Amino acid sequence: MAEIKPLPELLINQIAAGEVVERPASALKEVLENSIDAGANNIKVQLVQGGSKLIRVTDNGAGIASDDLPLALARHTTSKINTLEDLQKIASLGFRGEALASIASVSRLSMASRKATEKHAWQVRVEDGHILPPEPAALTAGTAVEVHDLYFNVPARRKFLKTEATEFGHCEEVFKRIALSRSDIEFSLQHNAKVRSHLRAADMTQRISSVLGDEFSQAAAFVDEQAADIRLHGLVALPAYSRSTRDAQYFFINGRFVRDKLITHALREAYRDVLHHERYPAFVLFLEMNPEGVDVNVHPTKIEVRFRDSRALHQFIFHAISKGLAAPCQGSGEIEKRKVAPPSAAPSYLHQQSIPFGGVAQPSTLYQTLFETHTAPQENLTKEFPADSLDNSASALETVEDEKEIPPLGFALGQLHGIYILAQNEKGLVIVDMHAAHERIVYEKLKSGLENQAVSTQQLLIPITFQADSLEVVTVEENCGTLYNFGFDIAVLSPTALIVRAVPAILQHSDMVKLVRDVLREIREFGASQILTERRNEVLSTMACHSALRASHLLTIPEMNALLREMELTERSGHCNHGRPTWFEISVADLDKKFMRGK
Ligand code: ADP
Ligand code: MG
Repeated sequence: MAEIKPLPELLINQIAAGEVVERPASALKEVLENSIDAGANNIKVQLVQGGSKLIRVTDNGAGIASDDLPLALARHTTSKINTLEDLQKIASLGFRGEALASIASVSRLSMASRKATEKHAWQVRVEDGHILPPEPAALTAGTAVEVHDLYFNVPARRKFLKTEATEFGHCEEVFKRIALSRSDIEFSLQHNAKVRSHLRAADMTQRISSVLGDEFSQAAAFVDEQAADIRLHGLVALPAYSRSTRDAQYFFINGRFVRDKLITHALREAYRDVLHHERYPAFVLFLEMNPEGVDVNVHPTKIEVRFRDSRALHQFIFHAISKGLAAPCQGSGEIEKRKVAPPSAAPSYLHQQSIPFGGVAQPSTLYQTLFETHTAPQENLTKEFPADSLDNSASALETVEDEKEIPPLGFALGQLHGIYILAQNEKGLVIVDMHAAHERIVYEKLKSGLENQAVSTQQLLIPITFQADSLEVVTVEENCGTLYNFGFDIAVLSPTALIVRAVPAILQHSDMVKLVRDVLREIREFGASQILTERRNEVLSTMACHSALRASHLLTIPEMNALLREMELTERSGHCNHGRPTWFEISVADLDKKFMRGK
């Protein structure tokens, strides 16, 4: 073994650089964060060759006094904290005092700065680990940092740098994160002397649109929740915008971009109900909390954090996001707040319609399914709507128009190929996938029924018996209570037969035997003892699938309107249980564009 000696200063910095400066993008991140900490409201980034040749960041922040300039480049020097107490409530992005020293040890770095009160700027350079004395320089107030030839002196590292396009891509991602974190700051980005982005100060939504595109913000829901000293706000994309990668996930804690398992988990849970499991949610979210509640000093690049009360935070995020996603009838430009309030529960005009289906004066299956949970039973419905008052697809519209409000999903025009409902709303054309929409409605009803322990059940006039295998029989024997909670009354008739006496009312028109078999199979798979919410919802989802309208089921106009109104009242109705959208909108303006009107 060699003798033990202290490491030379330069090598110490180079070791630190190994952690903090992985590639040009990480150096860019550090330098940009310094500009933000300096209170700049205008920050320019110029890159050459993906940042490996040059990273130049100019800001109009507070600047550094000439005497302090050499200190800024030294290791473990910072203006941001003094004591352990400060460390426990970090309000700035930087605090470790090692970024500039590390970057300077693996590049040719220079920094010019001028405080507003000084006559001219001063510049310092680092050469071979030595900080040269400041020289006068030209610069208006603020700071300009130049990082030339990153890793010129560490060939092993340089070899790991990827193509110019890849390194630029990483820099651009860092730029996006920083730009999203502070919409009040003006940013610009140049690469090889070409302007790639120029973002003026804006509000949060505008900035998100400029950085991530209009499609994102138009397919997103607002979140803004506050509890004690925590606030979560931002935009969460509705499932239709979901991605096959994690590329549009931006979460900021007190302005700092973080990747955190707990947060990711809370978000995934919140999306579980609306998002296909192979898709990733997209979001830009800002969590503001007391800095004492989060430890940012756990990772050299501070991308990971630790929370003091992680359980409560998980709950809070989960609920805030679920709420944002659940708001009925979002999407398709919902951000521009609709002025039409959705009708309150069971709108009165719905009860004035009836459904002449195939000439028979009897409400159809759909109608019963949708309304039996909050209207009269079938016999009464038939009494309420005698045959001679049945001609009213038009009167339904009149009644509504009297109210002078076009509901968000508009009024039905007709049905396309037995699959889609076409409707007209204020903006233009609404197209609804009737099966998917109905499935979601039934699912949400089952869910809230179960949550309130009030699944409305329907006793069957003639109980159904069927041959069952021994596993099915055992499942019924062992899970009577669970089945009962789900709205079923199933009993063992013999070792090889089951009898179904009651089912959830909303499912009474499905194929009973198939329904019961599917439910038994699901319950068997996880065992009643551990009915976690998520698995419970899977059972409900299976149940909903059984009842949902099949394609080619012909609907009358009032039935379609009934479905539209029900969608408006249903949480998460914008997507079916599997995360597919249930409807979308084509505005008249879009159509005009397609037909080149007004050109
Ligand atoms: P840290 O940010 O952790 O304090 P750095 O090495 O990144 O450490 O920066 C060291 C110090 O240099 C900062 O604390 C700050 O005082 C000063 N500094 C760096 N960049 C700027 C800038 N753009 N404007 C003003 N001061 C700066
Ligand atoms: Mg810093």
